[in-house]
Amino acid sequence: MTLTDVIEVLETAYPPARAESWDAVGLVGGDPAQQVRRVLFAVDPVAAVAEEALEWRADLIVTHHPLYLRGTTSVAATTPKGRLIHTLIKNDIALYTAHTNADVANPGVSDALARAVGLTGDLVPLQPFPDDPWRGLGRVGELPEATTLGEFAALAAKGLPRTPGGIRVAGDLSRPVKHVAVSGGAGDSLLATAAAAGVDVFLTADLRHHPSSEFIESGGPALIDAAHWATEWPWLDSAASILHASGVTVETRVSATVTDAWTRGY
Ligand SMILES: [Zn+2]
Repeated sequence: MTLTDVIEVLETAYPPARAESWDAVGLVGGDPAQQVRRVLFAVDPVAAVAEEALEWRADLIVTHHPLYLRGTTSVAATTPKGRLIHTLIKNDIALYTAHTNADVANPGVSDALARAVGLTGDLVPLQPFPDDPWRGLGRVGELPEATTLGEFAALAAKGLPRTPGGIRVAGDLSRPVKHVAVSGGAGDSLLATAAAAGVDVFLTADLRHHPSSEFIESGGPALIDAAHWATEWPWLDSAASILHASGVTVETRVSATVTDAWTRGY
């Protein structure tokens, strides 16, 4: 398989045209004509992931987060990002990013998150595209049976990969929970949308004190704040499955290296 063959599959599932205008998705490094036998999926393009790719002899790393989101005038090995570019090019490892285009895809990042925390039925976007009701940010769905906020939080913690920060809950733990909204990654901007959706709880990441406090005070849904990395990690397996289902003959591996920014909780 060539890198072009693999990219074709990824871009059918995650059309780059659907990425936000501020985003930087697609091929970051690599020759479209190069052979690809092993593909490593990871959330972050960081040194630990490059190390893993080297050890496993990956030909391509597919990450969720972009390496360069803003313009740069240098890829010298004098910065962590420049060093990463050097490591990858020296070892013939390509780098490809599917970010906000993977968030809004169907299935996308939040579908995988919803399944990981126990939602079993149909999922619909929390904030659908005006021109496509089946694609958009976040997902809303139901648990197979009503439970309490406390039990759902425990279920979510079990379903997501462990991180030092774990998950945090805001709301009455005995509150009934059945309708759930989720959004992988930073979900601050979707708080009002989640409240309007009439769900019992909104699970996302990177929630800040003031918006969360005001949200709970106003009697909206309960909140669950998980580690950013953990909410996006379930998507990696989904993306790898899409590659396999397409018939491209590559080996895939999902990186279990925890690259969340927080390395220890006390
Ligand atoms: Zn993210």
